[in-house]
Amino acid sequence: MRTDLPPLRFHNTLSGATELFTTLSGNVVKMYNCGPTVYDRAHIGNLRAFVFANTLRRTLDVWKYNVKQVINITDVGHLVSDADDGEDKMEKSAKKRGLSAQEIAKEITELFFADLDLLGIDREQIQFPRATEYIAEQIALVQTLEEKGYAYVIADGVYFDTARFVGYGKLGNINIDEQKEGARVEENTEKRNPSDFALWKLSPKGEQRQQEWESPWGVGFPGWHIECTAMIFTLLGKQIDIHTGGIDHIPVHHNNEIAQAEAATGKQYVRYWMHGAFITIENKRIGKSVGNTIYLQSIVDRGYSPRALRYWALTGHYRTPMNFTWDALEGANTALKNLSRYVLEGVDEKVAPDATFLVDFYAAIANDLDTPKAIARVWEMVKDADLSPSSKHASLLTADQVLGLGLADAQPTVKIDFIPFETLPEQVRAIISARQQARKEKDFALSDKLRKQLAQLGYEVTDTADGQQIVKK
Ligand code: AMP
Ligand code: ZN
Repeated sequence: MRTDLPPLRFHNTLSGATELFTTLSGNVVKMYNCGPTVYDRAHIGNLRAFVFANTLRRTLDVWKYNVKQVINITDVGHLVSDADDGEDKMEKSAKKRGLSAQEIAKEITELFFADLDLLGIDREQIQFPRATEYIAEQIALVQTLEEKGYAYVIADGVYFDTARFVGYGKLGNINIDEQKEGARVEENTEKRNPSDFALWKLSPKGEQRQQEWESPWGVGFPGWHIECTAMIFTLLGKQIDIHTGGIDHIPVHHNNEIAQAEAATGKQYVRYWMHGAFITIENKRIGKSVGNTIYLQSIVDRGYSPRALRYWALTGHYRTPMNFTWDALEGANTALKNLSRYVLEGVDEKVAPDATFLVDFYAAIANDLDTPKAIARVWEMVKDADLSPSSKHASLLTADQVLGLGLADAQPTVKIDFIPFETLPEQVRAIISARQQARKEKDFALSDKLRKQLAQLGYEVTDTADGQQIVKK
């Protein structure tokens, strides 16, 4: 751990306060980030959760901690309703697409990994366990809870008795009396308390699930919460330093994880719980039914750098909700290009980063990852007329170890045989003009369509800061 940097302070959902960060043991940080449920492609909201986790990881690396990081892949047991009822998201998606649950899991996991790569998240440093690979560990944990008297069996599975766990709901001070079963779901009358949750669910009678396993209680599948705890115990140990997720996980998923883990071990499960706020799109929640889902690929397809999404995400604090607009992304993309220019202008690799800048930059990051403040300081630094281009270059690359904007890979824009507009055939000119208008009006569906028309005519169009550039294919 570096002592020349300010001590890290993180907001802990458990205490509701920003606390000094200390580790369980020496220099090691054990960190678990709740991962994606791989029934459908991750949207930009989901990806914000991983940009946050990665910024935290990069910070810990820069502070020279030895980080052991795990992101799980949920490929079974996450039901449509948080109240342990309704269909398994994986099985539902499999039925809909006429594929097997494992085929879907494989496809979506690969897309997720590709997104992480594009966002500058180094997968080599992370373990990605799949829930279906830890069934025996999950069964063993449920057995431990049963032996200790925390679990009971009813018709549809094994449940955790939340009334037996003193302090249930302590994360985020959840009022259990108000936490009734999901309104859309019929109450399970056999449960002892409304907040009790499934540890192991039995396959419905007369129905064969795609993914089901033998267990001491009968053929079935693990509950969603037990998966995270069993994988943490196996891969990181009974106690960990940091656990992250989106704020939606606080009331149910993470309180349930705490209950089952601490009931099983009698020890504190996680020291720092950190939760990321949501992204909305045009002030609505992101959802297929709302018709506003945006994927990282949609951003790339429109000619933006994927890191523009990362840049934009970091201009908000991870605990502040953000509203995505294409205008905001455009701004982020331009900002990123301008930063790249400053990187390219500096030439002398031996020049050190500006010390005053770094003090402020690290102070912002140490204060609960205040990336908006850190980025504002970056702009102040690049605009400082007293600093040399090489000093700016070095400062940017040092800051980028935390920000992960890929500035070291900045490439000069190469112009290749761009064709002057006037020399193009009339039909092509008309399409380009229409496309210009569509982009101005942010009608990206039309602009994409026109791009395809141009491609059919043998022209490739690139969107640059100076407008559309055309090359003949
Ligand atoms: P899921 O694949 O639904 O299990 O979600 C993966 C991660 O994304 C979780 O940590 C969620 O809390 C988070 N998440 C889901 N929707 C959003 C959103 N709109 N904005 C930010 N994070 C989200
Ligand atoms: Zn989880």
